[in-house]
Amino acid sequence: MQEKLLQIKHEINLAKQRAKREKEKVLLVAVSKTRSVQEIQAAYQLGVSDFGENRVQELQKKFNYLQGINWHLIGSLQTNKVKYIINSIALLHSLDRLSLATELEKRAAEHGISVATLIQVNVSGEVTKSGLSSNEVKDFCNALGQYPHIKACGLMTIAPNEQNAENVRGVFRELRLLRDSLQHNMPSNVNLQHLSMGMSNDYQIAIEEGATIIRLGTVIFGQRNKDKEIKK
Ligand SMILES: *Cc1c(COP(=O)(O)O)cnc(C)c1O
Repeated sequence: MQEKLLQIKHEINLAKQRAKREKEKVLLVAVSKTRSVQEIQAAYQLGVSDFGENRVQELQKKFNYLQGINWHLIGSLQTNKVKYIINSIALLHSLDRLSLATELEKRAAEHGISVATLIQVNVSGEVTKSGLSSNEVKDFCNALGQYPHIKACGLMTIAPNEQNAENVRGVFRELRLLRDSLQHNMPSNVNLQHLSMGMSNDYQIAIEEGATIIRLGTVIFGQRNKDKEIKK
């Protein structure tokens, strides 16, 4: 794993150089869904501080075993499960509807905290993917002004799974342009700096297109064993 992480860091730096973004920070989120506590600990000991899970139950379980980690929820979140993770996550990547914002607001207010979120955008328009469509994001941001315990820090997208990663460059670029277009006249709790985009097969291209957060599973931990996947 150490060698893989070094290789990834090297690739991140090369991509930043190509994009003339050397001075900018790109946060590596190690996607640890289906991985064991031991595997997570190994990565943590090698300096990885941020881990992403896509299921609430699995995140809760791991949260109780492991301290000092910044947890990211990267999968879609059911409204009735917000209460379980409101105090455990550093960043929610998948805010995609106002009903979820309403519940986040309520629970965050109860705890006297503010919850950091990214707005998930379905740039490619694939029917199987969740997220707002690009043209809904502006109104959504404005509506978030009514939710003072939510902090919207950026946008997230999941690109289509393409053999040739170059084919998804346009998706990443569109998310960046969307983010850039939403810098002004926003509510005070909406400050879209971050772009969470890029996975194992396309993170270099995502960085070239402006990603500030990349979500990597397979390149760090190896292929996932489907049999091990935890059922709902
Ligand atoms: C699983 C997952 C990833 C990581 O995918 P890899 O191809 O293994 O790097 C990233 N983002 C989301 C939302 C995921 O569900």
